[in-house]
Amino acid sequence: GAMLRHLARKLRASGPVTVAEYMREALTNPGQGYYTRRGGVGESGDFITSPEISQVFGELIGIWYISEWMAMGKPNTFQLVELGPGRGTLTEDILRVFKQLASVLSKCDVSVHLVEVSPKLSEIQAVMLTGGKVQPNREDESAYMKGISKTGIPIFWYRDIQDVPPGYSFYLAHEFFDALPIHKFQRTEKGWREVLVDIDPEVPDQLRFVLSPSRTPATQNFIQPEETRDHVEVCPEAGVIVQRLASRIEKDGGAALVADYGHDGTKTDTFRGFRNHKLHDVLSAPGTADLTADVDFSYLRKMAQGKTATLGPVKQREFLKNMGIDLRLQVLLQNSGDTATREQLLHSYDMLMNPEKMGDCFNFFALLPHHRLVHPDKKDKPKSPLPPVAGFNELLLK
Ligand code: SAH
Repeated sequence: GAMLRHLARKLRASGPVTVAEYMREALTNPGQGYYTRRGGVGESGDFITSPEISQVFGELIGIWYISEWMAMGKPNTFQLVELGPGRGTLTEDILRVFKQLASVLSKCDVSVHLVEVSPKLSEIQAVMLTGGKVQPNREDESAYMKGISKTGIPIFWYRDIQDVPPGYSFYLAHEFFDALPIHKFQRTEKGWREVLVDIDPEVPDQLRFVLSPSRTPATQNFIQPEETRDHVEVCPEAGVIVQRLASRIEKDGGAALVADYGHDGTKTDTFRGFRNHKLHDVLSAPGTADLTADVDFSYLRKMAQGKTATLGPVKQREFLKNMGIDLRLQVLLQNSGDTATREQLLHSYDMLMNPEKMGDCFNFFALLPHHRLVHPDKKDKPKSPLPPVAGFNELLLK
């Protein structure tokens, strides 16, 4: 394909590149990147995500934001900021909950801010959320596009989190961090080396992994002295984004909810590709498959640098159970007349909750202002205890 030829030319001219550079090219190259061209989220695509499986998923996340908004004293305005919204389904389900709870939110000024690099996916999101009624913005404006949701809420699109205006915000990143470029490292007898992508001299236009002959700037910066693993993946871009989220929450208030598959700094080799719902060799036909790596939550926690508190990771099935998914399922089952719908509801519940399916490998992780978890002045006996954070504890809505 065009992407492979482009990469092969580049590798022949200037030598091997880091896995991060390779991943960035394959996923978000402005001409040929996987997400730029299509980004196969959904049943007909290359991978399926929780919001695409069941509307209940997004509804419970919508309730999480409302419950945090209430716990934080119902500020009179907030921004919902989603990173990498895919087809827009999750925001759509959240906005439906906001509409159903309009009486609760009535005096609150809500706006939606989507951070999306893919022009193709932003078009799909615009159709899903506004029915296609969007307008492009002038070059000098921070958002590249704007519109009004079917429920009357203003929506803005950006390429970078830094373009989103400051202000009290609830952030959401579902299967976003796993799509960001990682560096890969390997311990050798001569010390840490970085895994690089190179062209195979024996086979035309075939890529292969090689080890850097010496340390690279990334080995110096990203490997901890106390590291015990022999293979390590680090996603500096995820670190930078978490730092930004933590600074923004510390300064302007709000919370961030991150949901993704991942580990707590224990796994070693998770870089993989998906095409048509099947595993795909990461080095073959770049640009045609989704490339992904598990999120290292221990790294995200470290990169929050104490600016906010962090909660989790907790397993998806625990989080959704705490959010009341069982009760929600019962209500939907009671309200659905036909067997096909009931079977569909039970099937999607199983996909989300079964430990062998998505229940165990997906995790929820949150950034919250310190005062959300600990009363600022512990000497004063607090008048009322702080309400527990839903999802990480059982949901208690009054
Ligand atoms: N959250 C959605 C989609 C996940 S796919 C879901 O769960 O269904 C990853 C999303 O992140 C896509 O929308 C992709 O275009 C976007 N994306 C990938 N890299 C990005 C980057 N560097 N900046 C902004 N968005 C990015």
